[in-house]
Amino acid sequence: MKVKAKKHLGQHFLINKKISEQIVESLDLNKNLHIIEIGPGQGALTQFLIKKTNQIILIEIDQECIEVLKNKFQKTKIIYEDILKIDLDILKIDSYSIIGNFPYNISSQILFKVLEHRNNIHQVVGMFQKEVADRICSKPKSKKYGILSVLMQAYFNCTQLLDVYPEDFRPKPKVNSSVIKLTRNNTAKLKCDHKQLTEVVKLAFGQRRKTLKNALKKITNLEELNLTKIMNSRAEELTVSQFIELTIQIFKDKTR
Ligand code: SAH
Repeated sequence: MKVKAKKHLGQHFLINKKISEQIVESLDLNKNLHIIEIGPGQGALTQFLIKKTNQIILIEIDQECIEVLKNKFQKTKIIYEDILKIDLDILKIDSYSIIGNFPYNISSQILFKVLEHRNNIHQVVGMFQKEVADRICSKPKSKKYGILSVLMQAYFNCTQLLDVYPEDFRPKPKVNSSVIKLTRNNTAKLKCDHKQLTEVVKLAFGQRRKTLKNALKKITNLEELNLTKIMNSRAEELTVSQFIELTIQIFKDKTR
């Protein structure tokens, strides 16, 4: 380990090579697909990735890590940037997958960026704080089912691959971790508008203990819409397709 870990960048370097290899192995690879690694650090995953493909783009925010990476991976494209600020469209690649042991402090923001670019992304294999990974993959009627579950599952088949424990990192994180795989489904376009769905889901789960009738009062009257069946349900009881149907109903007569 050459770099002293910086806490504010969420640096927890993976030291278990078996796990690094397993993460890389679980990514689908084909020759037309570019792979973007977010936060490669000192190359724990990259060292296995370069054995499988040379279409790799590394995006790392830490100058010190950049130096290490440039030394180790001289033929690889390395971008010194903040993943939240970089415009991925400038990379001019139509189809790519994302891999990373993500910095936990910005994991939700990374997922919203993934959603933004969903039509260019084939797959995401990533390490998250276990609690976040559980939330993404949760099904209805669970306390963990929430905004990210609905939005990610609307576009991706989400599966949990393996749990990883603090001992496998330096320095050790305070939380457990989990690797998940998100594979883009066949729905090119949802039956409803993405922004409207996001609005409904955020409002519904914003007050998750209230009935949908009350939680969505600001934008609709479910009684008037004749949605009496679901108006007394709570957000966590609705499946992804029910949320999509609900969004269609709410916005069908509104011109906005
Ligand atoms: N993949 C490496 C490092 C994981 S730690 C390993 O498994 O060992 C998370 C990494 O993300 C660190 O290298 C950190 O510098 C980087 N990082 C943190 N915030 C970032 C951001 N906004 N954009 C790009 N990289 C970031």
